[in-house]
Amino acid sequence: MGKKLQTGHIFYMSYISNTDVPLLNCTENSMPPGLVLIENFINEEEEKALLAAITFEDVSEKAVLKHRKVKHYGYEFIYGSNNVDKNRCLDEKVPDICIPYLEKIVALGYLPRIPDQLTVNHYLPGQGIPPHIDTHSAFEDGIVSISLCSQVVMDFYGPDKRSIPVLLPRRSALIMLGESRYQWKHGITPRKTDVIPSDDGEKCSLTLCARTTRVSLTFRLIREGACHCGFPEQCDSQKANMSDLKDVVNDEKAQELENKYVNEVYEVIADHFSNTRYKPWPKVASFLKDIPPGRVVLDVGCGNGKNLKLTSGCFEIGCDASYNLIQLCSKRNVEAVVADCLALPFRSESIDFVICIAVIHHMSTEARRLKAIEEILRVLTPKGKALIYVWAFEQGISKYIKQQSEMSNDISQKDTESIKVCDSACLPVHKNRTGFRQQDILVPWTKVSKDSQNNQKVHRYYHVFKQGELESLVLKCGGKIVSSYHDEGNWCTVVEK
Ligand SMILES: [Zn+2]
Repeated sequence: MGKKLQTGHIFYMSYISNTDVPLLNCTENSMPPGLVLIENFINEEEEKALLAAITFEDVSEKAVLKHRKVKHYGYEFIYGSNNVDKNRCLDEKVPDICIPYLEKIVALGYLPRIPDQLTVNHYLPGQGIPPHIDTHSAFEDGIVSISLCSQVVMDFYGPDKRSIPVLLPRRSALIMLGESRYQWKHGITPRKTDVIPSDDGEKCSLTLCARTTRVSLTFRLIREGACHCGFPEQCDSQKANMSDLKDVVNDEKAQELENKYVNEVYEVIADHFSNTRYKPWPKVASFLKDIPPGRVVLDVGCGNGKNLKLTSGCFEIGCDASYNLIQLCSKRNVEAVVADCLALPFRSESIDFVICIAVIHHMSTEARRLKAIEEILRVLTPKGKALIYVWAFEQGISKYIKQQSEMSNDISQKDTESIKVCDSACLPVHKNRTGFRQQDILVPWTKVSKDSQNNQKVHRYYHVFKQGELESLVLKCGGKIVSSYHDEGNWCTVVEK
């Protein structure tokens, strides 16, 4: 129900109750712990001079993020990894004009030294930044943000789901220290107005304030080495250590982990998985087509059997740990059995050719990955050959990752979700189409049901292989490397017994 104005626009009025509005309270104790706000940190003249020193003219297309323009000094911030390349300095250092202000903050005791990295963000009204915690391993304690041109409300989200809106006045300096830097997320909700306390004496009333273009200068100290903060849940340095499974998982635990995060998951997703895996990869198909007739061929981890029946005149058999996938094989009329790839139910030296596609990366310790390769070599006849594919850590060539890091910071800015897979290990959940941050990860699979409300998200464990890692395991097992290549995001190798 609006009223039509003479201009033709329709005018709507709506009312909100004061109590529905997140109350902005400017007293110290309502701020996240460790947060410091210095109002009138610079004067109007200084603001003008700073703005004049920063131009966005030389900003390349790729620096225009979905929601705002950015420019980096000192070191480039890489949105794909939420980190900086510490070995690569930019030509443009933190501009000299900023140094006196930073010296002032150092003199006040908030920073140990002058920051060496600056990110300038240019926000139009309606633009924002998703809530995030600056990567611990990238930057030290003490992040400084100077607001130019417009005030804005920045929202802080605490560990207990508490959120505190903080008004950053124009020309103020915000310093995030301790808990507010390491444990609280901060972000700017994309909207054109903010509700702020109005300045009418004692009484705290609220007013709606339109945002204008805002430029923020964020100064950070590049961290040398790992972070040792007291907030391990949010700390990528400390999580990276925890996730090195070989140190924390014995064989029994590893088996439990694979049961839960590999075998049981495939049983649940078998049908849906199978529907998305119907076409053999060309290089796998061509390996199979080249096998001379009459040979015995084994597909270890055959899944739904899509790679079986591609040879001409060979005896082919598949095996897989998933009962439900083997059921699908029998529908296709291929020979397949349920089996553990660490204990293949075949005689030694009975198989001429083995393929093992996307299987060994589900083994959670190096000992088990070695065992899987040993089993393949055991069943092969002398001079028999195997083709092995494992998911590659190096996905740098993928166009998706490039697009992701250039165009959007939505996904990458959110800090990584992780799941405790056993008492001693916590693994990060990989986000589709982003680079891998570490080798042991969980990859989500959404099992779509007819009623989308009941979609089920499950996680599969993967150990993504670094270049050369597969070959080194093969050599340790006494296999010979015939050839190696990168294909479909995998490291691949042809092995001879
Ligand atoms: Zn930390």
